[in-house]
Amino acid sequence: MKEQLQILLMLQKIDIEINKEDNRKKRLPDQIRKKEEAIANLEKKYQKEKNELKELQLRVRRKEIDAKTINDKIEKHQSELYGGKISDIKELKQLQKAIESLKKERDQVEEDLLILMDEEDTWKLRVSEIEAELSESKEQLKQIQQQVEQQQIEIQKYIQKKQIEREELANKITDRALMERYLLLWNEKKGEAVVEIEDSICSGCNLSLPSDIIYHLQRDDHLIICPNCNRILVWKGESL
Ligand SMILES: [Zn+2]
Repeated sequence: MKEQLQILLMLQKIDIEINKEDNRKKRLPDQIRKKEEAIANLEKKYQKEKNELKELQLRVRRKEIDAKTINDKIEKHQSELYGGKISDIKELKQLQKAIESLKKERDQVEEDLLILMDEEDTWKLRVSEIEAELSESKEQLKQIQQQVEQQQIEIQKYIQKKQIEREELANKITDRALMERYLLLWNEKKGEAVVEIEDSICSGCNLSLPSDIIYHLQRDDHLIICPNCNRILVWKGESL
């Protein structure tokens, strides 16, 4: 029994390793999901900033139309003023006044326009920066996908190698009942089914083992299980 238990311990070590690697393999796509999420957020931000830029460009366009409308009015008044058709001094003075005030209005509109155009430039830069960031992120995603795929293949190869080692050990366990008990426990506990006992504590469930169990564990060559968690116990020290 003692020899069988030692083989079982080695087999369990491989099962733990396979389980660990399998979990690692399953977690690998998390990296892809994380990057995809970041890209989706960036995409949203990009659309939002682009819409705001469009809005700003419309405001610029409207201001330009305003400026043109005022300029047209000024030109019309000026041609009236110098056209020679109006001779009434009072009327001419009113026309001059109107031109003056239109020019002031135009200066204000042009000033506003300059500010808006400046803002437009800044916004364009922001949008193009996000665009660059987005394409860089997409490139990174491709790389991550390739890495994950490669790592998955490597882990799978490693697991296969470990499974062969496991098979060899399993063949050496001739006690079928022991193997069945182990497999049941492994599935039930989702891991460690055989525990090595160093002092008097079952490391599986932390139970302080009764002294008669320790006594038999140190001396007998038959299967002993934890009375609390049913795990298979193996004495770690020298047999007495
Ligand atoms: Zn226990």
